[in-house]
Amino acid sequence: RFITLEGGEGAGKSTQLRRLAETLAKTLAARGIDVLTTREPGGSQGAEEIRALLVSGDTGRWGPVTEALLHSAARRDHLERTVWPALEAGRWVVCDRFFDSTMAYQGYGLGLGRERIAALQALALDGFRPDLTLILDIDVQTGLRRAVARAGGEAGGEDRYERMDVGFHERLRHGFLDIAEREPERCAVIDADADADHVQARVWNAVASRLGL
Ligand code: C5P
Repeated sequence: RFITLEGGEGAGKSTQLRRLAETLAKTLAARGIDVLTTREPGGSQGAEEIRALLVSGDTGRWGPVTEALLHSAARRDHLERTVWPALEAGRWVVCDRFFDSTMAYQGYGLGLGRERIAALQALALDGFRPDLTLILDIDVQTGLRRAVARAGGEAGGEDRYERMDVGFHERLRHGFLDIAEREPERCAVIDADADADHVQARVWNAVASRLGL
């Protein structure tokens, strides 16, 4: 099984990913199933090298189309070298961000539009889809406040996307919710406006009920 976790800035994705992977590993160990945790952009040597190009550059180093192409190239390498071999070996894979992030960030946030991103996905994924995608949803102002607090109060923090305007984050959130509405069988929206323990319980409920655990 392939599970992806998505969300905008300050949704608590990293914390929830770690907790989900732990619970899943404990639950599946009884069945002799191993869990692999991975991330995008990255997750294979080549994709991590591409990630460094994406996250280290100044805002505007890459045009939006180039950025989406780099994400797609990284994704293909990650699939071929990490995700597909693990799934073939019978492991479950939990991934921090996947193709919905490209749709939401570059397609909705940067305005490339659904069609161009969908064309890229068709090439990079060959029809491959996660079994379950958890979308951590948080009000934009709340998410940005959390992200700023995490960065030590410095406005914007270390992350170039956290420095973008509120409109960008509103488009991003709308994008994730739109994706969920279009593919309700694959996607579960999790209300992330609660403490980490409550959000963790919501995440686990969604995983257990949707995947029959
Ligand atoms: O998951 P995390 O928040 O650490 O994401 C790493 C960085 O890459 C963030 O700045 C995120 O906003 C950005 N990103 C992006 N487009 C994607 C995926 C991630 O801009 N398709």
